[in-house]
Amino acid sequence: MEKSCTFCQIIGGEKPTEFLYQDESLVVFKDIRPHAPVHLLIVPKRHIRSLNDLKDEDKEIVAEMILRAQKIAKEQKISDSGYKILFNVERGGGQVIFHLHMHLLGGW
Ligand code: 5GP
Ligand code: ZN
Repeated sequence: MEKSCTFCQIIGGEKPTEFLYQDESLVVFKDIRPHAPVHLLIVPKRHIRSLNDLKDEDKEIVAEMILRAQKIAKEQKISDSGYKILFNVERGGGQVIFHLHMHLLGGW
């Protein structure tokens, strides 16, 4: 938990946000500035700065994020039309929130 991190605040309940899904390791919520008809963020509860900071022992959370995207896409009925999953990595890669997250974009 990083006090100044927006996603830690959301996960900690300090910034009220509706979760479409949550379990012991991750949460899913809508992006506040959507770039697609469906634009969700899949966010591990543990504060990890970016993809660059992932270690071999983090394999499980990465797999959980991807499999959750697949399931949420199905629930949102965007599986058949298609979707993208995306990680922005560090400033040059467009990352603005430095708490690891995966974008799920679809519904076009
Ligand atoms: P990044 O560019 O870091 O990969 O993406 C961060 C995303 O988080 C952006 O698409 C932005 O719209 C979203 N975002 C930033 N602050 C908030 C917030 O307070 N609530 C929600 N729901 N989304 C946020
Ligand atoms: Zn954080």
